[in-house]
Amino acid sequence: MRLAWHDPQPLAPAQFPDYEQAHIARASRGEAVLGFARLARCALVGAFEDPRRTLRLSYIGERFPVVRRLTGGGSLSLDPDTLVAVLAAPAGPYEAMAPDALMSALAAPLLAVIRGYGIDAVFIAPNDIVVAGRKLGSVFARQHAGVVLFEAVVPLALDVEELLKTLRLPLEKLSEKGLLAARQRFAPLSTLVPDLLPGPLGARLAAETAQALGRCAHREPPPVLREETPCAAVVDGGPVADVQAFLKTAGGVLYLDVWLDPGALIREARFTGGVICLDGGLLARLQASLAGTDIKQAESTLAKALGASPPDIVGVDAADIIYLGHLCAARFHVGRRLGLAAATQISVFSPDRAASVETLLGAIDAVLLPYCAKPTWCKWRHRDGCPECGRCAVGEAYGLARARNLTVITITRYEHLQAVLSDLKNQGARAFLGVCCTDFFLKRDYAFIDAGIPAVFLDIGGDTCYTLRQEEAAYAGRFEAEASVDARLLGRLLAWRDRLAAVDGGAGNGAGAEGSLDAAPSLI
Ligand code: SF4
Ligand code: SF4
Repeated sequence: MRLAWHDPQPLAPAQFPDYEQAHIARASRGEAVLGFARLARCALVGAFEDPRRTLRLSYIGERFPVVRRLTGGGSLSLDPDTLVAVLAAPAGPYEAMAPDALMSALAAPLLAVIRGYGIDAVFIAPNDIVVAGRKLGSVFARQHAGVVLFEAVVPLALDVEELLKTLRLPLEKLSEKGLLAARQRFAPLSTLVPDLLPGPLGARLAAETAQALGRCAHREPPPVLREETPCAAVVDGGPVADVQAFLKTAGGVLYLDVWLDPGALIREARFTGGVICLDGGLLARLQASLAGTDIKQAESTLAKALGASPPDIVGVDAADIIYLGHLCAARFHVGRRLGLAAATQISVFSPDRAASVETLLGAIDAVLLPYCAKPTWCKWRHRDGCPECGRCAVGEAYGLARARNLTVITITRYEHLQAVLSDLKNQGARAFLGVCCTDFFLKRDYAFIDAGIPAVFLDIGGDTCYTLRQEEAAYAGRFEAEASVDARLLGRLLAWRDRLAAVDGGAGNGAGAEGSLDAAPSLI
């Protein structure tokens, strides 16, 4: 049996879906096909990603296209200096493998090729090829109708600045210092193997892959593709969801967006995220299970829909998906109590996933505020403290916290946050109210996980380190984000906290039964 393979070919981004389908069509007839593409400048998003969350669309604009691939995983910023390997083969022995094992098995030939160049690379779950802590490449997979599709993306050279502008990463990384630090995080193959050419690299990978599949490598011309057609729209411009929840898992961030009818029945649900879901139809089936369900039943509905077998998602288990349903219902509950039109600003962090919103709120002992919400002209911006001069919402937040004898701290940098969390833990703080942007929580969640203190988070608005309203200044590294705290909402959250604490005598057990969204008395 043969592994048909072809040399790297330049490809227009719009042709990539056709290229994938050409591979899959042959694999579904029992063939194994490996091809190499060098895509023109584009953003390649994972099968389940929401480009609005992962791409800086304001920068991309008409500059280059956004294309969706069939495999899950994160968004990529590509140009012809990146080699994209696409393998399609009958699933055979891979069919019975657990998702993590499958990824590792499929990445093995690429790892062997890289090690053949004398580079001590390793595979790091869920999908990275890494050398000395620096990222060298990424791998993605999907398994459908008896065919396994595997895609490996290896930058031979990398324009880090373009990458940072394309993907939604903090703007300070575009400063000179930030770019230097970002470059240290990547190891493009050409910097490790001088004079490396894509052709010989492809030939080596074809030989290793053929060996792993027990087939003979057979070189052939690249597939004939349809003429370049306009890219299908991958950015959904529809209305924002009524309720959103997210969960960071070992396999990436998973989001659940829900649109409701006036009776709080789910009209539409959508899972998105940079996760590698091998079963391409699983998330769609889970979405369908939620349609017509009362949002308060989202957790139990998902548990029923998932059944006993573990989901085919790398680094995500059934409990994660079910908990996401719980978080969505909890956000809806908070939104209703606070009279919010869309429950998108408040999230909860319960280290053991057991505490109800009421439990967490009633136990708040401290308020943490980000420096970025202070005006850029305020001399307290990069310092802890605030004399409450009355000229910004941070002052109001300080007043609200101090009136309740709560500890209130301005977080001035990441190391400061770590120190503050450690102090709070040592002081026995039961929970804190943290004000920060969602991106910060997602990127730095390990600081909160390490500290293990339950928290309620209030999302900031306005310009954040991740928005791009001052592009030119940002590229020059002069951007200073000025976010905003919704002091009114913070006040209502703290008022709710006061009533919960009073009902509970300050013991922090809250008024609601654990995990129950209905049992708590209506306090607001
Ligand atoms: S209220 Fe505080 S943070 Fe805001 S401007 Fe005045 S001193 Fe600065
Ligand atoms: S909270 Fe968000 S916007 Fe503010 S400094 Fe931190 S990362 Fe930047």
